[in-house]
Parts: sequence; C-alpha cells; structure tokens
Amino acid sequence: MHGTIEVMKHARPRVVIVGGGFGGLYAARRLKKVDADVTLLDRGTSHVFQPLLYQCATGLLSEGEITSPLRHLLRRNKNTHVFLGEATTVDADARILTATRADGSTFDLPYDYLVVAAGMQQSYHGHDEYARWAPGMKTVDDALAIRRKLINAFEMAESLPTAEERRPWLTFAVTGGGPTGVEIAGQIRELATNALDKEFRSIDPAEARVLLIDGGDRVLESFNPKLSGHAQKTLDKVGVETHLGVHVTDVCETSIQTTSKTDKTDVEVYEARTVLWTAGVEAVPFVGALAQALGVEQVGGGRITTEPDLSVPGHPEVFVVGDIMSLNKLAGVAEVAMQGGRHAGAQIAESIAAGYRVSTPFKYRDLGTAAYIARRNALVQAGPLKMWGFAGWVSWGVIHIAFLAGFRNRTGTVINWAATLASGTRRERAITFGDPETARTPYGIGAETG
Ligand SMILES: Cc1cc2nc3c(=O)[nH]c(=O)nc-3n(C[C@H](O)[C@H](O)[C@H](O)COP(=O)(O)OP(=O)(O)OC[C@H]3O[C@@H](n4cnc5c(N)ncnc54)[C@H](O)[C@@H]3O)c2cc1C
Repeated sequence: MHGTIEVMKHARPRVVIVGGGFGGLYAARRLKKVDADVTLLDRGTSHVFQPLLYQCATGLLSEGEITSPLRHLLRRNKNTHVFLGEATTVDADARILTATRADGSTFDLPYDYLVVAAGMQQSYHGHDEYARWAPGMKTVDDALAIRRKLINAFEMAESLPTAEERRPWLTFAVTGGGPTGVEIAGQIRELATNALDKEFRSIDPAEARVLLIDGGDRVLESFNPKLSGHAQKTLDKVGVETHLGVHVTDVCETSIQTTSKTDKTDVEVYEARTVLWTAGVEAVPFVGALAQALGVEQVGGGRITTEPDLSVPGHPEVFVVGDIMSLNKLAGVAEVAMQGGRHAGAQIAESIAAGYRVSTPFKYRDLGTAAYIARRNALVQAGPLKMWGFAGWVSWGVIHIAFLAGFRNRTGTVINWAATLASGTRRERAITFGDPETARTPYGIGAETG
C-alpha cells in the first residue's frame, strides 16, 4: 500500500524531520511555535539517550529510564505529527520523502524543508559477519541484547562443571577503546565485582576477565593524553585488561582473534563467549540514498559535508545535522547534534517568518566531553578545564542528568544510581530460558549456528 500522508490542513510550509535523536528532537522543539506543519519520522517510537545505553546493557538502568516516547516529548507541539517509519528515498526535485511502515507498505511525505538527523550505526569495517557474534551498541535493542548476553554468560558459567568449561563464558572482550568501549568494559567488571559477587555459589563472578581491545596507542584518544592516562590507571585498578596496538582479525561464536598492527605474525586467540563491538561507526543507509538523490558525495564514515548554515550544498531547503553532518571537523557528540538541530530549526523558523531563505552560519559552543570509567571515577574535559576521579564523576553525573529527557527519567535514574551505590545490586537482569527473543537471536541460548 502506498499513499501520501496529508499533514497539511491549510497551505502552510511543510517541514519533515528524519530522526528523533538529539538532532531531530531539538529541531522539532525549536519549531514548536512556528506557523508550519512539522512531521517527525523515526524508525523507533522513542528518543534514546545513547550516552547511558551501556548502563542499560549492564542492568543498572531500565530501558524506560534512558528513553522517552517521542509523542510524549512533543505532545505540546500542536503543529507536529510523529510517525513511526523508516525513511528510504528522497525525490529531490518533487521534494518528497518516502518512508516504509512496519508492515512494509510505504507512504510519501512532501516537504518544503527537510531536516535529516538519522545518526550512525555500528561499522564492522567490511566484516559484517562479525556482527552475528559481536553486537554493537547504538540502539535500545542492542543494549537489551547485550544485557541478555552478559547475564546469560554468568548463568551458563554457574552451571558448568569444570573451570575449563566456565572460562570462555567468564571472558568478555570489548573492541574499541573510545568512550563507549571503556564505559562498557568498566561496567562489566563493576557488574561482576559489585553486583553479582555475593550471589553465585559455583563461580566467583569477580574472576570475570574483561579484555579491552584497540588499535591505537592509548584509550580515549579523543581526550587529552593526561586524562587518558588517568583512565588507563583506573581501568588497570578495576581489572580491565587493555590490549593496544592490535586489530581484530576474526570473531566467531567462541573466540576473538587479534593481530598486532606492527607484526602480522603476532596473533592471539582469546576464548570468549561474549564479544562486544564498539570499534567504529558509519552513517545509516538512508544517508547514502539522500546523498545520491541530492547529488552530493559522502565523506568519512558516510557523512555529508554541509554549508556553514548546515544546509546541503545546492539544496538550501535540506539540512543535515548531528553525527551524519561533516562541518569543521566537529565531533559526533550529543551537544553538536543538539545545537545543530536547534540551529536548523531556527533557520527554518526565521525563513518562514521572513518569507525568504535566511542563512546564518552555525557557531558551535563547545561545552566539553565526559566519559565514565568506574565507580567514583570519570573524566570531564571542557577547554582548559580537566577533571578526573571523584570530581570528574560528580560532574559527569550532573551533566548526564541535566541532558536526560524528562523529569521522570531524571528522578528514576538518580534513585537507581543511589540505590546501586548503596547496595551494589542491579535489578534489571530478567532473562528467561527459552525466551523467544533469546532463542531467535545469536545472542543467547538456542541460537542457530552455522
Ligand atoms: C553508547 C554511546 C555512548 C555515547 N556517549 C556519549 C557521551 O557520553 N557524550 C556525548 O556527547 N555523546 C555520546 N554519544 C554520542 C551521541 O549519542 C551522538 O552524538 C548523538 O546521539 C547524535 O545525535 P543524532 O541526532 O545525530 O543521532 P541519533 O541520536 O543517533 O538519532 C538518530 C535517530 O534517527 C533514527 N533513524 C535512523 N535512520 C532512520 C531512518 N531511515 N528513518 C527514520 N529514522 C531513522 C534513529 O532511530 C534515531 O532515533 C554516545 C553514543 C553512543 C552510541
């Protein structure tokens, strides 16, 4: 079934936003009072706070605490329709975006302005076959699959009779020494040593071996070397084994293989039933379709280079914001997406009010970056300001709570953090043997092999 969704009640400009992540949500919010028909399209129903996905994956926070329904967030934007669907193609001349519904049928969204904030997906650098055994962490589904895999690994180890059989289940390999890799590696050790340590009888969860694998010379390369050194010391202290200067050259159901970057004969195979992939991102497929329709090239990681006002060269009616935008080497972080979304929304609002296309260059205000390393230990870097240890951890907590969408999520997260700090327990650990999801995916018991 194919149809055109008539969102226009009368002749007002039509703005279509693809993606309800940081970029898309902030664009929609900026357009709240504008005399236009706004449509926000996302392939999920909720805005996801990606910076805390790893806490959801390790059973600390629930998926409800790190997501907010887009309809709810935009309930007061009376000019805004929210649709669940996947943007697939664009007709740049006719100015029509085509999307697919969950049942495979399609619909058209005509636009006068288009804002694309579709984000990135995990990249396996030409080895998509690794994805089967090494899930990435970009969506809530990814986080829940990882959680199931982690909990299942400890449960499997508990019921196996020999240490030799248990070892691969208690070995966790994380690829990628950027913030996501460091955070998830630290959290797995924390789960093992602070939450599960008193609950098992046959195994000692604290024996869980966590390998952090990266091709670079140091972890957290986007941070100042001093901060990265602090992070390394903390990782060593909590028992994460860091392997630097190596590439992953194979991943299968039971192991991961690495090869030294400098000596190709230096190959290591680690028996590990849990491999998690955070080593690289690339633009989602729709960005390729968009670039082709607009006749522009994709640059590093599939991003689209924009004009200084965030519009696409030759297409002043199309804006690209967030992780998929390439401008002045701005990093793929939440703050760039939020400010970019707000800027695109403002350009559109001002153009509609003025009756002609207003163009103002985007000026990014760098508010810094933060990374959680372990309990009471995080890094914050904002210009000349550098914090680590306890001070960094407190600042990290304040920053994350401030940007988490919705009062309920903020309160729930603070209560959960406080309870976990006081008691060590993590309650988000429910998995079921024979759970259809577990049986269907390669992440757990009953997975198809071959
Ligand atoms: C695990 C993790 C931890 C992170 N930690 C931090 C951090 O601590 N600090 C920080 O600043 N940044 C962090 N980031 C980066 C930050 O989350 C991103 O920079 C930010 O989310 C980018 O926003 P965006 O709007 O460009 O894309 P996203 O937030 O990824 O949103 C893209 C949206 O587009 C939707 N979409 C994709 N394709 C389509 C399609 N074809 N049709 C319809 N909808 C589509 C998706 O469903 C999604 O909702 C982290 C990212 C991850 C994955």
